[in-house]
Amino acid sequence: MIEGLTSSTLLEKHPRLEDIMCSLDTVGKMPSGVSGEIRQAVALARRFNESVARPYALELDRKMHEDPTYVPWDIVKEINRWGFYTNWIPKIYGGRGWNLGSLIPVVEELCSECAGIGNLMGVEYFGMSVLFAGWNTRITDKVCRDVVAGEKSGEPCLIAGLVTEPGAGTDAEETELLHKARVRCLARKVDGGYVVNGTKVFISNGHVSTWHISTAFEDTSRPADTMMCFAVRNDAKGFVYGRMEKKMGQKGCPASEIIFEDCFIPDEDVIINAEQIKKLKHSPRETAQQVIDFVVTLTRPGVGAMGAGVARGAFQEALAFARETEVRGKLLVNHEWAQCLLAEMYANAALARLTYMECNHITGLYGMAALLNLKPMYYYMKMMPTALLDRVMPFANRLAAVQQAFRKIIMDRQKEEDALRASGWASLSKFAATDLGIKNCHLAVELMGEAGIRHDMRAEKFLRDSKLLQIYEGTNQLNRLNLFKCLVAPAAPEALVFEE
Ligand SMILES: Cc1cc2nc3c(=O)[nH]c(=O)nc-3n(C[C@H](O)[C@H](O)[C@H](O)COP(=O)(O)OP(=O)(O)OC[C@H]3O[C@@H](n4cnc5c(N)ncnc54)[C@H](O)[C@@H]3O)c2cc1C
Repeated sequence: MIEGLTSSTLLEKHPRLEDIMCSLDTVGKMPSGVSGEIRQAVALARRFNESVARPYALELDRKMHEDPTYVPWDIVKEINRWGFYTNWIPKIYGGRGWNLGSLIPVVEELCSECAGIGNLMGVEYFGMSVLFAGWNTRITDKVCRDVVAGEKSGEPCLIAGLVTEPGAGTDAEETELLHKARVRCLARKVDGGYVVNGTKVFISNGHVSTWHISTAFEDTSRPADTMMCFAVRNDAKGFVYGRMEKKMGQKGCPASEIIFEDCFIPDEDVIINAEQIKKLKHSPRETAQQVIDFVVTLTRPGVGAMGAGVARGAFQEALAFARETEVRGKLLVNHEWAQCLLAEMYANAALARLTYMECNHITGLYGMAALLNLKPMYYYMKMMPTALLDRVMPFANRLAAVQQAFRKIIMDRQKEEDALRASGWASLSKFAATDLGIKNCHLAVELMGEAGIRHDMRAEKFLRDSKLLQIYEGTNQLNRLNLFKCLVAPAAPEALVFEE
């Protein structure tokens, strides 16, 4: 036996044992109700898949292909009716307050049927995470309660996240690149607010969203130091819809161009800006990175889950095909080469899921959801009657002191080590699971031969849908570099990161 002290020293060697086994760190710290919530949420998603997504996925894909200007309100209203847009809004903002850890497995589930429909639901929480990341409780409360009202009225009120610009995609996702980026979205300070001019592109759900949560820059020559975030409704003066992109996949989820033409944003709709950052511990650039990291540590494992979803969906299609197709006088599923291929596909789907579940643990402990997962906070929220919270919280959330307290607790107290761990794992999950996803789609088409490439077979659609996953939420190249920065470079201090 080795002494306790020696064993802990050995386990601290880079990478630490817990660094590649995050769940070990989590055992005992997470509230026990979380796993039950995950099961319930996944069961709901399976029911939705059976009755809504599976019967409609191919028709929606064809409809949007034939008419790329078609706005898919029919399916958005169904998702809204099923409660998917409000289940994960915290109870303090009027939602059902399901644990964020149960959101990502639901995204996998929906994408195992259709990644377009999965994104129509999942990307709502991208918009919401940009909203949450500035910890402005007043505006978060206002926007989230609109979404809840939209569920009640049956008229969906969705939220889109606007970061990408024509000249800044990858560069907009990392402050080390942002400070050299060619951003154009300018927010000019005027009396009582800002006037914003610029264009955002490839905005998922753009044409079906009411609220748009956007980044802009007070000085476009110093973007990393002057980034601000604001919320704007689609009926604001100067808010203009541009084209809807014709995409190869995920056709059910529109990707929109949004143009700001002298669009006035009142101070009360500013989520975070330089003025507010002055009251925090970190510099504007560090705070901008923190905001970006809060968003991507939630959304990148979400895209990882989409990768796991298409990996599993493609596997299921291939298995079904192998069980009913005869090749050289026997069922395909009885050929050993096909069994090896199906085994590999099963492993790919499982590995993809493991990456985002591990990351889920880290986000729950160290990322944006950390506060909500603290046991006292978790149980307080569970026990509190919604009617009481609905009466108290809209008032409390408006108080400057409440907002400042949230910001201080979350933003000032987050340790750099925790932020790196969460961000590095979010990237790991994103690129590993989406690469496994597209790999399975290729394998499914390979197994199915000519049947695999027919439009009326689902394998072909999975393959088209999966390619997009390697691009958004930071391309897989950027995510590899971010993993290097967060998880490898600390052990190689001489390494220069994002210097090229
Ligand atoms: C369907 C779809 C939906 C989207 N939805 C949204 C949305 O809702 N909101 C939003 O804000 N954005 C959205 N995006 C935008 C998405 O986040 C960007 O496409 C992505 O960040 C990549 O940016 P880019 O396309 O401009 O590629 P570029 O940044 O131009 O990159 C081109 C190539 O160069 C590589 N590259 C660039 N910089 C580096 C670097 N420093 N080091 C190494 N390689 C590099 C990239 O990996 C890539 O291969 C969406 C995109 C798509 C396709």
